[in-house]
Order: sequence, then structure tokens, then C-alpha cells
Amino acid sequence: DPSSAWAEVDDYLARTLLPEDETLELVLDENQAAGLPPIDVSPLQGGLLSLLVRLSGARRVLELGTLGGYSTVHLARALPPGGRVVTLEHDPRHAEVARRNIARAGFGDVVDVRVGAALDTLPVLAAEGGDPFGLVFVDADKPNNPRYLEWALRLTRPGSLVVVDNVVREGRVVDDTSSDPVVTGTRAFLTALGEDPRLEATALQTVGAKGWDGFTLALVR
Ligand code: SAM
Repeated sequence: DPSSAWAEVDDYLARTLLPEDETLELVLDENQAAGLPPIDVSPLQGGLLSLLVRLSGARRVLELGTLGGYSTVHLARALPPGGRVVTLEHDPRHAEVARRNIARAGFGDVVDVRVGAALDTLPVLAAEGGDPFGLVFVDADKPNNPRYLEWALRLTRPGSLVVVDNVVREGRVVDDTSSDPVVTGTRAFLTALGEDPRLEATALQTVGAKGWDGFTLALVR
């Protein structure tokens, strides 16, 4: 079974490259205790999110899909002083756990957790007319990814980075006969991404502790 080898290598790489991190381990413990599903990004993927925030120089980050705030803490800790994360979560129970985790990690003043379906909270955010986001991480309900891409474009500026997780799903993305909304939504999103002249995009397949999947990276031109 290759997936056990992927998990073993992930674990080895994480132990070798990432510092001991009690704050993030506590987030995962709290999520488990609260009965949240273990569908956070992996530690190594979280490390990538942190690096992308630093490389992009983003001062404002938007996240869709908070869960318990594990990825949110990775994003928040990479911000420069005065930076901000706005993270959108549909499930009030998830948001409550996330707020607690984020406060305990020391980012209560940096992160704004907003509860509601993202398609309802995004227009509110846009109407507030804040500065554009330098990085958007999309990790919510996958069938809506085509619409989230449009919102990401409205809320960013040239030079912003848009990252979308879970675009491969054990290879199911190539099934053009699928009626699964996750697959059809992902395929519609990928087509839109490839055709949009406002974006320069690529994708990376990943294997590891979370199985076989992948993400897209897109730079706003
Ligand atoms: N980004 C998190 C992490 O890595 O720690 C994991 C997010 S989890 C894969 C997806 C989250 O999106 C869930 O908490 C789910 O409740 C939330 N979600 C689902 N539909 C949503 C919607 N319409 N708007 C906002 N959040 C939604």
C-alpha cells in the first residue's frame, strides 16, 4: 500500500524539517476533542502556506474554510506586524473551536473569523471595501470553487496569490463522466482557471499523510 509509505515519509520530513510545535499540536488535540473531522492541511502543507505568505509579502490574507483554525494559525504566524487574516467558516461549531484555538495561539487580534456560508459573507466583505488581499487560500466546499475563484479575483490585486486545495482527490478529477459535484465543481474551476487571462496558474499533485491530492497556485496578473 503506497499510502502508508507516503505517510511515513511525510512524518519523517515533518520531524526533520519542522520545529517542534506545541501550539499547533494543541490545535489538533482540541479539534479532535471537539469531534472535528481531521481534514486540516498536513504539517508540511501548513509550512508551505506560511512560506507562501512570506514570499508573497501579503499583509492581508483571506481564507475560505477555517475548520478548527489549524491552517489559519500557519497563515497568521507568517504575517508581518499589523497583518490580518479574515477566515470564513460555515459551521458555527467549527468557528467556535477555531476562535478558541486561534486566541490560545496568540492570534486573537490578528484573525477575524466570520461565520456563515462563504457566498453570503464574501459580498459583505467586498462591501466593506477593505484593502485587497495579498493571498487567498480556498479550502471550503469544493463544488463552489468556480464561484470562489471569481470572488478571489474581486478581492485581490495584481501580484496576489490564490491557492486552492484538494483539486486532485485520489485522481477522481480526470473523470469527465462523473456527476459528483465535487468532481464537476473542481473541473469547472480548473477550466476557468486555465482560461482566465487575469491569472497565471499551475497545479501540483501531492502525496503524503493526507493521501493523494493536489492544489493549484495562481498569480493575479
Ligand atoms: N483550512 C482548514 C485547515 O486546513 O485547517 C480545513 C478546512 S476543511 C477542509 C473545510 C471547512 O469548510 C469545514 O470546516 C467546513 O465547515 C467549511 N465549509 C463548508 N462549506 C462552507 C461554506 N459554504 N462556506 C464557508 N465554509 C464552509
